[in-house]
Amino acid sequence: MNKRLGVWMVGALGGIGTTLVVGARAIARGLVSDTGVTTNRPEFEPLNLVGVGDLVFGGHEVRRSEYWESGYQIHKRSGSIDLEVLNALKDDLAEASARVRPGTAVHCGDAIDGLVNDEAVRVDAHDLRDAITRIRADVADFRRREGLERVVVVNLASTEPDVEGELPGTVAELEALLDANDASRVRPSMLYAYAAFREGCAFLNFTPSSAALCPALRRLGESLGLPFMGNDGKTGETLVKSALAPMFKYRNLRVLSWQGYNILGDRDGQVLSHRDNLASKVRSKDAVLASILGYPLHTHVGIDFVESLDDLKTAWDFIHFRGFLDHKMSMQFTWQGCDAILAAPLVLDMVRFAEFALRRGEGGAMRQLAPYFKSPVDVDEHDLHRQFHAMTDYFKDVGVVPH
Ligand code: NAD
Repeated sequence: MNKRLGVWMVGALGGIGTTLVVGARAIARGLVSDTGVTTNRPEFEPLNLVGVGDLVFGGHEVRRSEYWESGYQIHKRSGSIDLEVLNALKDDLAEASARVRPGTAVHCGDAIDGLVNDEAVRVDAHDLRDAITRIRADVADFRRREGLERVVVVNLASTEPDVEGELPGTVAELEALLDANDASRVRPSMLYAYAAFREGCAFLNFTPSSAALCPALRRLGESLGLPFMGNDGKTGETLVKSALAPMFKYRNLRVLSWQGYNILGDRDGQVLSHRDNLASKVRSKDAVLASILGYPLHTHVGIDFVESLDDLKTAWDFIHFRGFLDHKMSMQFTWQGCDAILAAPLVLDMVRFAEFALRRGEGGAMRQLAPYFKSPVDVDEHDLHRQFHAMTDYFKDVGVVPH
């Protein structure tokens, strides 16, 4: 049995995609430590997860580039990728670059359309079924050439605008939209997810683009017995919120207001500076607090594009709360994180867990992966601590981690 796992990334050459490929190959070659990779913690050892060095990367992209160049740009702008590491991986990166194919940008909105510089991406601009056929052929070709038994497709593409109108609720409704070539309620992420399921792959949506796991696509994944999970990786300010908000609950301190303000400057920030693309991000960041605390409160999430910051995202949060004798107090924190450095190891963890689910023949939402998401599918629990314990309990329940 081939124990290698195919990891097919949508948005393959973006900040996260590049950091993931460089990071995984650098760990595999012993050039860097595995800090940040939760699946390498001792409690997960009995799962016998696929090795980091056994991940084979490929994917779809709408911009022409390649991994060494993309890594070099990151090195120059944020310094998060070391040049020596990059140079030591030249051959590995060239191999991965050769596995990147032109994606589809059908009905993706102006902000993403502005990124497209690969004419091959435009070929299926007018036919949804053609776009799916092409995506499926690329994934199938990847599987065949690399001799891969299992493939996980992970959406790392730019955040899409919400669709106008309702997302398709049933597979039949979605099929009808595709047959009618009606793109008005379809986004590219839906075509990728549809193709992934039809090719027998697990699917992860790391982005806030909720269309990717709309009800119709979840039903498709369930009916085909394939595992999936999303939406929107929990990497920065929301991660801190979901760890900190429970403290107020445990001490019965009443949170009155929680103001959050984020500034970021990379390509993601540029896309999010478009109001339509921002809406889905703010929604998934905003839902966490009321759910953890159990009452409505004044919250605000601001996100502004500050180009000079690049990937070094900064968030400032101000928490106004009431204590004993109704005395009002406040707390503030500043979070300065490198976005892709926070995100890439989460993707690494999740593809390994998805392979575990595929190996066990488990289909449907991988609720055990809730701690990785801002808006976890089919999970109402947002408290990070409870989510993490639920994840380790899940592995105890399936009998692979001794009590
Ligand atoms: P990025 O802009 O660097 O990368 C996105 C890539 O997707 C780009 O290379 C772009 O060309 C490509 N792309 C866009 N539309 C595409 C399509 N239809 N098909 C194929 N490729 C397409 O962004 P990033 O910083 O790598 O973040 C990726 C996604 O992850 C974004 O949606 C972001 O909001 C989400 N996210 C990021 C973080 C984090 O960085 N910490 C946390 C949660 C969610």
